[in-house]
Amino acid sequence: MIDQQQLYEIIKNNLPVGLTLVDKDGIIQDFNSQAEAITGYQKTEVIGKLHFEILHSPPYREACPLFAFALQKKQQTVEVESTIKKKNGESITITATVSPLFDKDKNFIGGIELFRDISQLKKLERERKNILPMFAHDMKNPVTTSAGFLSRLLSGKAGPLTEIQASYLQIIKDGLKKLEELIIDFLEFSRFEAKEYIPLKSACNLEDTLASQIETVRLEADKKDIRIFFEYPDIPIPVIDADCRMINRIISNLLDNALKYSNPGAMITFRLTEREKDVLVQIIDTGKGIPEEQLPYIFDAFHRFNRDTSGSGLGLSIAKTIVEAHGGKIWAESTHGKGSTFSFLLPK
Ligand code: ADP
Repeated sequence: MIDQQQLYEIIKNNLPVGLTLVDKDGIIQDFNSQAEAITGYQKTEVIGKLHFEILHSPPYREACPLFAFALQKKQQTVEVESTIKKKNGESITITATVSPLFDKDKNFIGGIELFRDISQLKKLERERKNILPMFAHDMKNPVTTSAGFLSRLLSGKAGPLTEIQASYLQIIKDGLKKLEELIIDFLEFSRFEAKEYIPLKSACNLEDTLASQIETVRLEADKKDIRIFFEYPDIPIPVIDADCRMINRIISNLLDNALKYSNPGAMITFRLTEREKDVLVQIIDTGKGIPEEQLPYIFDAFHRFNRDTSGSGLGLSIAKTIVEAHGGKIWAESTHGKGSTFSFLLPK
């Protein structure tokens, strides 16, 4: 039979993650082989030292998950990110899983941290985030140029076309338009992902913005036999301080969806309501609706469940980023088969 102390040593030093044990004051009591490999410190160098002081830089306690959660709040937490400083001075990102420790009489005696180095993962993530917008941008240019030349061909500027040639070119043009829309969504999303979006605010008239968006899609709506209504507020809505170009983007995304996911004969209603501190914008459709189990995920990037229509699955995720960057909130209510209401709030 293996002795308990020996068993503890074997498990501790064979763990694939770093382990640090501290007493209730945060003084290191134990440090396994993997912790030595990650930090560059030997166990003998850290035992008896304050954990946050030796490993966190700058050495303040709240930056240390072991101190902040296990010792201070006496809470367990799983995989929180933190930065530590190795013996050679290099800063690395780790994820830490921590827990307070209690003896058999429930007396608080210290804390334990299991951690792993995720610097390499973080580096790859940064590279991926930087590559995506460049890639999308390079893809957009040839598509835009091709669409321009197709329009010229179709207008007859390069010579007369037979009816069949014109109809084929029109199909190509419609396809390119869809591709361009997908790339634009992708570009916007990857830009938001690469760096935090900060709204470029100026005076924004929501009534005008909504009215002009409705006019943009009026023709398409008529073709689909979908009626669009704008319930004008009784008292004009005050002009708000917002990134108007991006608010336009949200409304255009929501309106495109309402049209895309509605059958002929459906109705789309816009409603603007002024509230004490914010303005509520609602787009109500009598379209296909969203199954209840899908509702929690529709604002997630790339989430799509309706495969009979084309789309990037990014429109709602982009809308959410924009609304939240304005300090607002966006949500959806829906009854499958009956219709959906998308609402968002913007602070006045
Ligand atoms: P996309 O429309 O490009 O797929 P979105 O992010 O705009 O991506 O929407 C995510 C998903 O939510 C859509 O694929 C669709 O299934 C659903 N959805 C969005 N708006 C509506 C709506 N008005 N009615 C029904 N389903 C909708």
